[in-house]
Amino acid sequence: RELTIDLGDRSYPIYIGEGLLDQIASYFDKHGLSKKSPLFIVSDSNVAPRFLPKVQQKLEEGGYRVVTAVVPSGESSKSLAQFEQLITEALQAGLDRNSAVIALGGGVVGDLAGYVAAAYMRGIRFIQIPTTILAHDSSVGGKVAVNHPLAKNIIGAFHQPEMVFYDLATLQTLPEREVKSGLAEVVKHGLIWDTEFVDWIDAHADKLLALDAEALGYALYKGCSVKAAVVSQDERENDLRAILNLGHTIGHALEAVANYNELQHGEAISIGMVGSAILGVELGAPQEVYEVTKRVLQRCGLPVRLPEHLDTDEIMEAMMHDKKFKEGHMVYIIPTAIGKVEINKAMSAERVRAVVEQLK
Ligand code: NAD
Ligand code: ZN
Repeated sequence: RELTIDLGDRSYPIYIGEGLLDQIASYFDKHGLSKKSPLFIVSDSNVAPRFLPKVQQKLEEGGYRVVTAVVPSGESSKSLAQFEQLITEALQAGLDRNSAVIALGGGVVGDLAGYVAAAYMRGIRFIQIPTTILAHDSSVGGKVAVNHPLAKNIIGAFHQPEMVFYDLATLQTLPEREVKSGLAEVVKHGLIWDTEFVDWIDAHADKLLALDAEALGYALYKGCSVKAAVVSQDERENDLRAILNLGHTIGHALEAVANYNELQHGEAISIGMVGSAILGVELGAPQEVYEVTKRVLQRCGLPVRLPEHLDTDEIMEAMMHDKKFKEGHMVYIIPTAIGKVEINKAMSAERVRAVVEQLK
């Protein structure tokens, strides 16, 4: 499958298919990547042993010069220290203005390598090869960043990839928990934009969990399409792009209170999306918004209730630190129907607190 992200002045393709990595060199040829300047492939310690040798071999057979860097797996690699290390390696390898940085991995590698591509010589070419389901979200849209000890994703840039290259075969080795966590963002894309897609996920959740390539290909295609549609209308998050934060205000607070180790991102936003559905129904959406949201998430193996030991005061405190909170009111993405949301700029903290209590 092929999909185009159209940003008006620029556009780029998302390729999704099984076994695509075998033909990677011909895709690079089509995009006119340089065979003189080195390509810089960044991967992590879980992904590199599985897929890096193949990617490197196929590119070298196609006449490309390849340099590789492998960072430790996990969120802690999204750091300024790791960024600097990669810049050092890029310099030592002689990357120049015609080089490209290639992210081979999940959202961590995508965000980190993307920031290297955005900063090196004020920006060089960038290609995403996502290997997680969650990365259908992070690889599309151009947000790249590393973390600061005081805040996530706070040092970053907008730097669009020139292609996203999704080989479904790479997803077969994903741990089950990562599969479920990634599906939470797929469900989110349905809930904010596309009723029929939500019904489809409802009916095909078993196939998705079993990593059926046909089903996965369709789900990622639809998920990327929604993200593309939203981003192409609002690249810099002035307004519409905020709807991509459905479930994320509560979700981020839960991740923080659970010390970023007990709950996966997808698990946290799953609970957050159920909270948003409750708020939606309270504000007049049909009851089915709550029922369908909860059912689809459960079918994808995701949690829909809060772990009981998490403290409501701490969760509210964490939410106050969220950048979406202003003067006693929160900007909240609220479902009005399945596949439809609105941006509510005056959500009261008390109302949210009551919902957090209900989620227990
Ligand atoms: P991740 O990159 O850490 O991958 C999850 C785990 O799976 C890691 O341990 C990784 O090594 C492993 N893994 C990856 N691919 C594998 C494969 N094919 N087989 C086996 N193991 C594999 O995490 P993620 O969930 O992909 O992404 C999370 C990151 O994405 C966060 O840092 C988040 O901030 C970022 N993000 C960014 C955006 C954006 O718009 N830029 C959007 C959403 C999330
Ligand atoms: Zn998310």
